[in-house]
Amino acid sequence: MRTDAFALRHIGPRENDLQHMLKTIGVDSIERLVYETLPDDIRLKAPLQLDPAMTEYEFANHIQELGNKNKVFQSYIGLGYHQAIVPAVIQRNIFENPGWYTAYTPYQAEIAQGRLEAILNFQTMVIELTGMEIANASLLDEGTAAAEAMALLFDVRTRDQKKNNTNKFFVSEEILPQTLSVLQTRSTPIGIELVVGNHETFEFSEEFFGAMLQYPGKFGQVYDYSQFISKAAANEIKVAVAADILSLTKLTPPGEMGAAVVIGTTQRFGIPLGYGGPHAAYFATKEEYKRSMPGRIIGVTIDANGNRALRMALGTREQHIKREKATSNICTAQVLLSVMAGMYAVYHGPKGLRYIANKVHAVAATTANELTKLGYEQTNSAFFDTIVVKAEAQKIKAVAEQNNINFFYIDEATVSIAFNETTSIEDVAKIVSLFAAAKGTQTPEITELTVTNHFPEELNRTSSFLQHDVFNKYHSESAMMRYIKKLERKDLSLNHSMISLGSCTMKLNAASEMLPLSNPQWNNIHPFAPLDQAQGYQEMLRKLEQQLNVITGFAGTTLQPNSGAQGEYAGLMVIRAYHQSRGDHHRNIALIPSSAHGTNPASAAMAGMKIVVTKTLENGNIDVEDLREKAMLHKDNLSCLMVTYPSTHGVYESAIIEITKLIHDNGGQVYMDGANMNAQVGLTNPATIGADVCHLNLHKTFAIPHGGGGPGVGPICVAPQLVPFLPTNPVIPTGGEHAITAISAAPWGSALVCLISYGYISMLGAEGLKSATEHAILNANYIKEKLNGHYDTLYSGEMGRAAHEMILECRPFKQKGIEVTDIAKRLMDYGFHAPTVSFPVAGTLMIEPTESENLEELDRFCDAMISIRKEIEAATIEDSNNVLKNSPHTLAMLTAETWDFPYSREQAAFPLDYIAENKFWPTVRRADDAYGDRNLVCSCAPIEAYMES
Ligand SMILES: *Cc1c(COP(=O)(O)O)cnc(C)c1O
Repeated sequence: MRTDAFALRHIGPRENDLQHMLKTIGVDSIERLVYETLPDDIRLKAPLQLDPAMTEYEFANHIQELGNKNKVFQSYIGLGYHQAIVPAVIQRNIFENPGWYTAYTPYQAEIAQGRLEAILNFQTMVIELTGMEIANASLLDEGTAAAEAMALLFDVRTRDQKKNNTNKFFVSEEILPQTLSVLQTRSTPIGIELVVGNHETFEFSEEFFGAMLQYPGKFGQVYDYSQFISKAAANEIKVAVAADILSLTKLTPPGEMGAAVVIGTTQRFGIPLGYGGPHAAYFATKEEYKRSMPGRIIGVTIDANGNRALRMALGTREQHIKREKATSNICTAQVLLSVMAGMYAVYHGPKGLRYIANKVHAVAATTANELTKLGYEQTNSAFFDTIVVKAEAQKIKAVAEQNNINFFYIDEATVSIAFNETTSIEDVAKIVSLFAAAKGTQTPEITELTVTNHFPEELNRTSSFLQHDVFNKYHSESAMMRYIKKLERKDLSLNHSMISLGSCTMKLNAASEMLPLSNPQWNNIHPFAPLDQAQGYQEMLRKLEQQLNVITGFAGTTLQPNSGAQGEYAGLMVIRAYHQSRGDHHRNIALIPSSAHGTNPASAAMAGMKIVVTKTLENGNIDVEDLREKAMLHKDNLSCLMVTYPSTHGVYESAIIEITKLIHDNGGQVYMDGANMNAQVGLTNPATIGADVCHLNLHKTFAIPHGGGGPGVGPICVAPQLVPFLPTNPVIPTGGEHAITAISAAPWGSALVCLISYGYISMLGAEGLKSATEHAILNANYIKEKLNGHYDTLYSGEMGRAAHEMILECRPFKQKGIEVTDIAKRLMDYGFHAPTVSFPVAGTLMIEPTESENLEELDRFCDAMISIRKEIEAATIEDSNNVLKNSPHTLAMLTAETWDFPYSREQAAFPLDYIAENKFWPTVRRADDAYGDRNLVCSCAPIEAYMES
């Protein structure tokens, strides 16, 4: 047997452990276990048709060769994406550090204080640069953030009687083309009418509820929007501004002009281009709209000792939790990238950021002056970083490309040049020389940069920003490295112990999958670079699409969506377009089982669908009779069913074929939520169970790390009839022949991290992928049997088996005064992150170990759970002063002079032997959610500052 197979690195259990594990489960082979788990009629009959598995070394060489097919040009394309310098200290200590990139969304606040602080820094940075009152912790990209701003303004218009029935939204023609495309997609299904036009001639009227402006405009012109915004206010039109984050260090921020929402990308704050992503968008608004704000907000609160603690505010504030009442479906966002962007501000501080902005402005101004001297007309009367030059585009393009330079060619006679942090005086000289050559004149010598501002004095920012300590003391590398480490140590990630979050699939994110991301051949390509410069990417993305087609059994894939929920939305919009293409405009009912993830109904609502909830049986399965009744009742208007398979209850429902047929018979399409794909790959697939479209969470099943809550990639794979409708992009066309408009800003979404999934599939191959699924089922069933007798498992398949995850019943413990949260917090004392709490059933834990955990780790986790079960047994409802209610226990508690608890210090912090050699200390006691929500503070200003006001 080969010992260099990647499968041996990815899959945890060793050959020697198998007999013991199988015996515990009570089967004699994995094959038998799978037989008892998965309905036979949906089993694949043949292996997946994929290329032979590569070893890690072979993959490294392969990806290097592919990378050589990408040409890294100096990019002056702009349009919302700029070359950026990732500070090495951030690249090495965050971007390439599993302590940061393998963490999960900070639901368990007490073991997530590090990244919570990092994203609080991000929020503070956004609030101060935009001049707004409150900001969230990142959205998926600028295009979708603009759509969220539009949705928020649409939502809050109902508070205003006069605007109740208005549905027009003005969009400046200065908006970025990809943003406009996303706005088009998102506006139509919810009944918003977009009116695109010139903001200078816009006629304000009662019919508009909102407006969207770009600052500076798409090709760099800087406008003073104060007048527009005050006229809008007089007409009760609320204004959202998409703003370039770096420019806000020099220009008057939109918040000071009266904007209601300010959004944008933070890519140029030290995040690589990555051929389109991942990057974190920001979203800032006013206090009064905080309850309509999409995504998550990090807030300050106190812990059980009254000390400062951070946690996600306002009931986690994730819109999708509102289900069909949601106006947004954000779940996975871009946390890792927001952490990096926030750290960029921490490292540079206000002076550093100003310096960078001044330099960018100076290179733009110098180039403009020099080109003007050469006789070219530069048409932006005011600009920050982008100039527009009248010149013969074809001629300039030819010489520019010879010199490995990309500009953006607006039309035959107009070239736009967007400058960035990397641009030097030598680069300016080079650019000027190209334009001189095109004119056949001598190249002037350029010895210094122009430093005067090329925008009106009124727009010169006078307010200070980032005065807080955190942005002013970590400017040496040692200080910065230690600050990052200090935060990292507060967080429990996969490099400490298993994170068995059901439905989230926290598997290994292999280093060999991650390495190529650091290579400029991959991370330094602009999303709108000409295709012939991105041949490596094109080949990789095409191959990944094909691999996903093979794995799902479908005919076409788009990689554009940046999260699972965005995939859901894309899939539903594709279904909508399909029905419309057949004249079925009325088909708008989505059937959704009550057990569905909250993003399902939220996405359906955004796609303009009416949601009909179907019942779940006592045993957790879909109530087929109820479904039949509703499908038939609504057969004339049925759009689709949304179904998760295996179910969110961790069961492969045997009626699935009957269910999907039922929907087809009544004219509907079947949307399969692919979050549980880790239980299908190589054994069955969505096409086989009768689905028409599914999203995959590449950040679950296909090894992209969760990054503390993103990045993610949520491609959708579709059956042949839906292929023509896959989404396009307005700058670089993608998708089908009847493509819907853009789902996200970049043509291939977060292309950079697609390398990880490509590596995962290429290195596992057909056999390894199937083996991974089998071991995921093996590990889950092993835990189920080990915990048997201690905890009840809520649902099982017909032969008593779990799929790749299981739900533990914890509600009876209420008789002892113990809530499921107490178990979650107590697990921290044992060095573990809790499984998923209260989804899909309140008061339960859902455990998904994944195939990557080995027997020792599974045993440690089970020992911890069993030990906790004994502690529960000893608890009484009368006395809440117990080891569970007081958990987690901090080092400060343990080393305090007095110890008033009715159990020993050892029992509190070292209840089992294994803990001593690898103790993880939560840094705060239990965070008080209610207090924090009553006193909402979402920036890193000291708490007293807010208490006074
Ligand atoms: C994770 C998940 C989603 C949402 O995916 P995101 O990438 O977080 O948007 C949807 N459905 C289920 C069942 C999930 O587990």
